[in-house]
Formats: sequence, structure tokens, C-alpha cells
Amino acid sequence: MKLEEKLLERSDDKCELCSAMGDLQVYKVPPKEYANEENCIMLCEKCQAQVEKKADLDKDHWRTALPVSMWSEVPAVQVVAWRMLNRLRDESWAADSLDLLYFDEEQLEWARS
Ligand SMILES: [Zn+2]
Repeated sequence: MKLEEKLLERSDDKCELCSAMGDLQVYKVPPKEYANEENCIMLCEKCQAQVEKKADLDKDHWRTALPVSMWSEVPAVQVVAWRMLNRLRDESWAADSLDLLYFDEEQLEWARS
């Protein structure tokens, strides 16, 4: 099975950050070099553009998405959710969510790098 197919199966054909269906793309979570299931997540166009800083942050979009996706069983999804929460931490809901999220050393290091 191709990587994209595996990821789509894991994500149930949904964006792993906001659960949107439709046009999903593979996003390799930096600074990981190797594209495998652990290092990649499926994102909708809207999430991808904002994660990659190609579009302005849409706070309303993240406000509903991140407090859910930060509890994903997929570490790579949690890492991206953590990064987005940090970019939004001026919002009280984002700061509150970050306070709840606990990472082990390895995951925290990934999230910060
Ligand atoms: Zn999305």
C-alpha cells in the first residue's frame, strides 16, 4: 500500500487536524526527513496553507479543530497541533489547551525543532 493510502486509512479520509473531507495532501512534519506513517499526516488545503505559513491564521478555524486534534493518537498530529496552538497562544483557549497537553521528552523535542 502506498503511504498516502495508509494515511488516508488512518485518517478515515479526513484532515487529521480539522476533520474536513475532500482534497487532502500528505504533510511531512519537519524536521523529519523520511516520509513514513510516523512522520506524515493528512491535511486539507486550508490547514496545510496555514501550517506552512502560506496563508494568514484563521483563528475560528483552529479554535474548533485544535482542542480536538491535540488528543490524537498520532504523535505527528499532536506535534503539529502543539505548534499551531503556540502560534495562537495569545488566544486564551489556545493557552488553556497548551496547558493540558503533556508530551514526553522526545515528542517535545520534535515539536520544538
Ligand atoms: Zn484541515
